[in-house]
Amino acid sequence: MGETDQRQAVSLPCLVMKFGGTSMGSAERIRTAARLTMEQHALRPVAIVVSAMSKVTDLLLDTTRKAEAGDEAGVDENLVRLITQHETCCRELLPQGAALDSAVAGVRALIQEFARIVKGMMMLGERPVQSVDRAIAIGERLSALMMAAYLESQAIRAKAVNAAAVIATDTVFGNATPLMEETRERAAAVMGPLLAEHTLPVMTGFNGSTLDDRPTTLGRGGSDFSASILAAALDAGELWIWTDVDGIMTADPRLVPDARVLDALTYSEAAEMAYAGAKVLHPRTLAPLAEHKIAVWSKNSFAPEKPGTRIVPTVKAALGPRAVTSMKDVAMVSIEPASEPASLAISSAKLMAEAMHALDAAGVELLAITSSSYRQNFCFIIKESELAVALKQLEEEFAIELAHGYVKPPEVDTNVGMLAVVGEGMRGTPGLAGRIFTAISRHNINIIAIAQGSSELTIAIVVRRDGLEQAVRAVHEECGLGRLS
Ligand code: ASP
Ligand code: MG
Repeated sequence: MGETDQRQAVSLPCLVMKFGGTSMGSAERIRTAARLTMEQHALRPVAIVVSAMSKVTDLLLDTTRKAEAGDEAGVDENLVRLITQHETCCRELLPQGAALDSAVAGVRALIQEFARIVKGMMMLGERPVQSVDRAIAIGERLSALMMAAYLESQAIRAKAVNAAAVIATDTVFGNATPLMEETRERAAAVMGPLLAEHTLPVMTGFNGSTLDDRPTTLGRGGSDFSASILAAALDAGELWIWTDVDGIMTADPRLVPDARVLDALTYSEAAEMAYAGAKVLHPRTLAPLAEHKIAVWSKNSFAPEKPGTRIVPTVKAALGPRAVTSMKDVAMVSIEPASEPASLAISSAKLMAEAMHALDAAGVELLAITSSSYRQNFCFIIKESELAVALKQLEEEFAIELAHGYVKPPEVDTNVGMLAVVGEGMRGTPGLAGRIFTAISRHNINIIAIAQGSSELTIAIVVRRDGLEQAVRAVHEECGLGRLS
């Protein structure tokens, strides 16, 4: 690229692209990701964000757990697996020579760093959250190192960047939230000069650091979020998220054979779908982008020629719903004041407030909440994986009320599944809820609970676990969402 082109390119808004674990999953996949990166880098400034190779974060976490349990042999075995996997990948990516030697040395140094943290956990017999965050970000650092080395071998000036130097977060270790103003400053200082000299930054997904530089992570699957934080901080023109599916679909294609890839949907719809179980985007991804209205594309790195799905602030409204999502591993928790007269001691508002406070304190995500009438029970839906910590926190919160019998012990039902019908076009469409419920009941499936917020963006429906899939198909068909309709 000539000098003038280069200057022009720098003044263009940059493109941020994120490659997830499967897109980084092998040397071959990394080569494809690099090719997709280089195609865009020839046209405009690009920064990329990479996840750990698929399953590596799980392996790292498993190693910390083994360390806590004092399982030295298990730890060593995992360390060998990590080294082998990444070294093999380097050897498949790079020819013999100085570049390969330096990549392998880099991989070993990072795994050494991981080993030191893990040995510390083993000695203490515990795994403090802060150390876990420091340890598990190594997966992304390994990926960034390998990707940058490979791009360099293709004559692209690239640099691995640890997001700990870019993304400033609060101190909620394991599930941190970015501090956008500080992140902007850091991004300008770290990424600005790289982009200006036409060097391609390869940033780690998933991690960040507190204002006093302690490493944090953004929660599982957080690399999408990292990429959107970076896109916002750099005022990027667009964000492309590369995954292993063709885009965001009208339903899970494993449940609904004629589910279809959506051309476009709004930020709110995508966020709502992500919270309600569509495994396409980390739910928090869209929040940082709203202010600058940065468009997101969800694309398939296995089929890059397909257009993918565009996520933007507004889309010409389709009438009715856009998609149906479902979650099978959920639990319904009901809370009820005890029967009179003891129940006089607690108002339902207070009961709900305390329950919500407990869920917040436990860091549990609330999927839906319903309550029908004065002084009667209310119930909420959470992920089954979060049930144990939720119950523990509820018991603490209600210790006194339970002891005095003002509240009945929370009732739990795990034999339930939740579907969510999502779409901005449902707003103000009379008769839609009726049609949806009728479609479900036609299959003899009983509806246990329903929640629709007044934004009318989502209707959440709880049914028996064994009726879930049928209910999703019925609603998908009734609403004409499929390819065949
Ligand atoms: N590697 C992290 C995880 O598996 C983050 C990500 O892939 O988005 O959760
Ligand atoms: Mg992911």
